[in-house]
Amino acid sequence: MRNNYLKYISTRGHSQKLDFKDVIFEGLAPDGGLYIPEEWPKFTNKEIKSFSCKSYQEIAFDVISKFTDDSLSSEDLKNIIDLSYKDFDHSEITPLNKISENEYILELFHGPTYAFKDVAMQFISNLMDFYLSKSNQTINILGATSGDTGAAAIVGFQNIKSAQIFILHPYDKISDVQRKFMTTVQTNNVHNIAIKGSFDDCQNIIKEIFSDQNYKKQYNLTAINSINWSRIMCQIVYYFYTLSRIEAEGKKTIFTVPTGNFGDILAGYIAIQMGSSIDMLNIATNENDILTRTLSTGKHTLNDVKATSSPSIDIQISSNFERLLYDITKDSSFIIKTMDELKSSGSYSLESKVVNNIKEYFCSYSVSQDEVRETIINLYKTKNLVIDPHTAVGVAAAGQFSKNYDISIVLSTAHPAKFKDTVREFIQSESFVPAKINKILSLNEDMVILENSTEKVKELIMEKI
Ligand SMILES: *Cc1c(COP(=O)(O)O)cnc(C)c1O
Repeated sequence: MRNNYLKYISTRGHSQKLDFKDVIFEGLAPDGGLYIPEEWPKFTNKEIKSFSCKSYQEIAFDVISKFTDDSLSSEDLKNIIDLSYKDFDHSEITPLNKISENEYILELFHGPTYAFKDVAMQFISNLMDFYLSKSNQTINILGATSGDTGAAAIVGFQNIKSAQIFILHPYDKISDVQRKFMTTVQTNNVHNIAIKGSFDDCQNIIKEIFSDQNYKKQYNLTAINSINWSRIMCQIVYYFYTLSRIEAEGKKTIFTVPTGNFGDILAGYIAIQMGSSIDMLNIATNENDILTRTLSTGKHTLNDVKATSSPSIDIQISSNFERLLYDITKDSSFIIKTMDELKSSGSYSLESKVVNNIKEYFCSYSVSQDEVRETIINLYKTKNLVIDPHTAVGVAAAGQFSKNYDISIVLSTAHPAKFKDTVREFIQSESFVPAKINKILSLNEDMVILENSTEKVKELIMEKI
């Protein structure tokens, strides 16, 4: 037994340190910051080498147990992991598809809702249920989705009696398949709310509700979006898994990640801090290129959100970037100042020292919608491989840098059927759509449409609880 368990601190430095269990339920810190571990746990080289003989679930156990404490026994953690990955339709959970001598696509879409969000959300729903059932408690979960998180959360929690779940999505701005995955789940504990606004508007409503401490306490609310630490934690696993499955020793590797809220790619950065030998992380953005601009100019300036063919990354406010800025600077007063500036003026500037530090780990490229289209058509024609528009953002961005690396891995964040209309139009075929998706499209839907108003959402929650 360890007695020095990891504690979690807020990036803004004015919240109490939390234990693992509390950090799972807390979401946003009371000071407005995001929780991160006080220090990064490390693997030895020997431990990392041992991953090549381990299953995905075993690697998940090794990674996640570095972050937990005595509120969760090894046995319970193993059970939760097994339960969480049993509904994936591939025995490798996140299989690697080798598309050329040195290029791989990491398929993260084999969970129940066909996008990578299942990897974390299946685990979190079971983990929360474990803690709640043990203490005979219930909670109300609140989250915003750009399409995929909400579906993964709703499907994760649909049979979990200890929780009610409220999910906001931007009305008419997500794909039919994405919406139907959420609105066709008709258990009593699921509430879908469509907001007349953008994903950033939805996320702002959530942030405002959570900043009202009294309301949050009174209605026992917990957040589920990508600011929740456990999401990031689960995503670290597949970086280690990937390198355990390819001969990467002594080779330069680049991972390219289609990025919106900066959660998935931050997990790669944390894998590096824990001892992984990743050389570069490529932030692939679509025409909502705030992070690409930040790396090239040092100026982080919000623009209007542009609707593209890869809607799950149509984001300007990239919440988890705060965690990176904190880790690079370890300066919470800098974070407070920077985030205040972003809130009041829509912009902040980073010193070149900070930008250069970031560039030791990250590069970035912004992919146009034409490039997305060409990439999808090209892979279909040359390799008979159908990819979704987000994965195409990744593949196109990887092409900008891969020649400088021995191995290039692109994270495939969604199954193409999740964006079936877009993909079908490009490749003039529908053979990639599984029967399960067609079935979901035929089911009845249930959702409430609301104005872009925090008060309206609060009222609805009060009415339902
Ligand atoms: C959520 C999502 C992303 C972006 O992930 P972040 O962690 O927000 O950067 C990319 N692709 C798809 C399909 C997604 O659902």
